[in-house]
Amino acid sequence: MRIVLLGAPGSGKGTQSQRLVKEHGIPQISTGDLLRAAVAKGTPLGVRAKEAMDSGKLVEDEIVLGMIRERLAEPDVANGFILDGFPRNLLQADALDALLAELDQPLDAVVQMDVEYDELMRRISGRRSCADCGAVFNVLTSPAEQIANDKCPKTGEPHKLFQRPDDTEETVAKRLQVYEDKTRPLIDFYRQKGILQTIDAEGDVEEITERLEEALQAAAGRKPAAKRKAAPAKKSGGKASAKVPAKKTAAKSAAGKKTAAKKAAGKAAAKKATGKAAAKGARRRTAVAKSGRKAKKAPVRRAPAKKKSAAKKARKRAR
Ligand code: ADP
Repeated sequence: MRIVLLGAPGSGKGTQSQRLVKEHGIPQISTGDLLRAAVAKGTPLGVRAKEAMDSGKLVEDEIVLGMIRERLAEPDVANGFILDGFPRNLLQADALDALLAELDQPLDAVVQMDVEYDELMRRISGRRSCADCGAVFNVLTSPAEQIANDKCPKTGEPHKLFQRPDDTEETVAKRLQVYEDKTRPLIDFYRQKGILQTIDAEGDVEEITERLEEALQAAAGRKPAAKRKAAPAKKSGGKASAKVPAKKTAAKSAAGKKTAAKKAAGKAAAKKATGKAAAKGARRRTAVAKSGRKAKKAPVRRAPAKKKSAAKKARKRAR
């Protein structure tokens, strides 16, 4: 399958991509990782990219597109790929379309990973990566012991954790704003193409993977028969639709513009979701499965007070 994972910084694209790689045997293509590798090597391209990355801006399209073109020409993408962090604006999305049309390999699914603003902040500030194998952990949500006991597959030693330079609070706020301004419009872009699926990307990592697999199955089911035949077989079937999580559907519809305290209370209540909420969640997912166009949700982001007016203005302008 050829998949794009769409979501704000911290929405879990990288984590879920790693899981899809294992499950489906197709490569993850992360422009963030490719750029970081270029920065680490100090290539001319890396030097050009570094400043934008460190300040939370997007790297020039020309650089990113060049990298993607090269990467998609490599043989391991023949059976599909997971694009993580690309495209990030409309120009990149158009360029990707053109490139894939040239290769006669259109996208099968774009999955939007929906996470609220506060949760994004929490995830990013706790995020640490292993310098050797790239595995990602969260020191705020995973017990320290668990992280310490998890050995790096590259070195056999405990992971060598570091915080990305662009994960500071100030840069994160900038990155989230850039996501709102430049990347969010891609949701409509792909919805109009009929290949968008939206999943609730909050909660247990395993459950999110299940939702993601479910969304991918729904996308595969929507394809014309000829294309379906060509799709690579899944390594393990059945698992994806085994569970229909309910809590966040209820939590999010209730969340609105609550204060942090109210929100916490709402979340606790949602955890005790009743069968009714479960049925609602199931209905929503079925609707999503039937048509990528029904996946509309309220905007994820709760902008902080000072950002709100800018965000409002942007929305007004969009109307
Ligand atoms: P995140 O999604 O958490 O922001 P990434 O690792 O995907 O992290 O990207 C890190 C940085 O790399 C971005 O903030 C941006 O500067 C740059 N970058 C990554 N992908 C792109 C892209 N497609 N276009 C432009 N810049 C990009």
